[in-house]
Amino acid sequence: MNIFAAMKPDAVCKSVYDIPLDSLKEAGKTCLLLDFDNTLGPDHATAPDKYAYDFIDKIRNEGFSCCLVSNAKSGRSSKIAQMLDIPCVTYAHKPRPDGIYRALKLMETDASKAVMVGDQVFTDVIAGRLAPVYTIMVEKYSSKEIWYVVLKRPFEKLVRLIGRF
Ligand SMILES: [Mg+2]
Repeated sequence: MNIFAAMKPDAVCKSVYDIPLDSLKEAGKTCLLLDFDNTLGPDHATAPDKYAYDFIDKIRNEGFSCCLVSNAKSGRSSKIAQMLDIPCVTYAHKPRPDGIYRALKLMETDASKAVMVGDQVFTDVIAGRLAPVYTIMVEKYSSKEIWYVVLKRPFEKLVRLIGRF
């Protein structure tokens, strides 16, 4: 796999609400592995908002299981997962795939049935591609981001330009 292929998601969606759940189902996907910060809610939020609650309801009603896969410290991400009533893998070490492996084990599923969903190329997408699981990149929830993410975005923009996604 060349470096740009490793950074290219299988699909890009405007938001989590634009993920084509029906076609995922048809492809045999049953489990969504979800990033939180700027995917399901504001970056570094300490609690989920309606956007996240409604999305979790939606995917549950569609028959998907889900698990938060977050690089965040365990305190914050566990609390968010608990509030959303979903399982969680903390300190996921994305872009390394080991958090995804832990999530697959926790969810008692395998890579062929899982989908990684996240807003960042250099963490979520690379981890998803390395696992490998079907990987969907969503556009960031909000332009407000912590400084070290802001620093990565110009490089991400370049990768997206070269990779055309
Ligand atoms: Mg994120």
